Amino acid sequence: MDAIPLIEDYEFELGDPECLPSAMGQLYRATARFEADASGVMPYLNAVLDRADYSRDNSYIRWKESVRVYILRKHELALSPAKDREHAVELMEQTVRMINDVWAKRDEIEPDYHELRIVPALTIFQLLPRTNCRECGLASCMAFAAEVSKGEMHASECPPLASEEHSGERERLEELCG
Ligand code: SF4
Repeated sequence: MDAIPLIEDYEFELGDPECLPSAMGQLYRATARFEADASGVMPYLNAVLDRADYSRDNSYIRWKESVRVYILRKHELALSPAKDREHAVELMEQTVRMINDVWAKRDEIEPDYHELRIVPALTIFQLLPRTNCRECGLASCMAFAAEVSKGEMHASECPPLASEEHSGERERLEELCG
């Protein structure tokens, strides 16, 4: 017998494109609201998603896939950006399916209650080579530090950090940022 899905029905809403300015043209934010309480699936999602930002107390989990950001709250799932309504509907269906799959398999997954720590950009910056060499693809070490702090990039994407000269700073960054 199939397990009962956590999220069976939801109310879909496409946000106003003006709320999401982008050089790529109009992009949309989509929301699904549901009656089910999604708090229970969050530690299981935290276990299977890469670098998710989970807060048990505030009952939310946020994660990224490529350029897209997803946020699951107790009774709501939001995602952005989507190209248009059809794209947003498809993404929402896929994500709800993924959440329901994780819920159905929860007996096989060790829940993870670990919360991602936000490390201030300045702390990260002080551990970088601070040469503004741009090998990471950004204009400066401070810009890179800000991206690492937000979880958008990882310290390993700074090639000079891999050298023996910076091994101490690299280890400290790994302790702080994972
Ligand atoms: S690659 Fe590293 S040292 Fe170079 S700009 Fe980026 S963060 Fe700074």
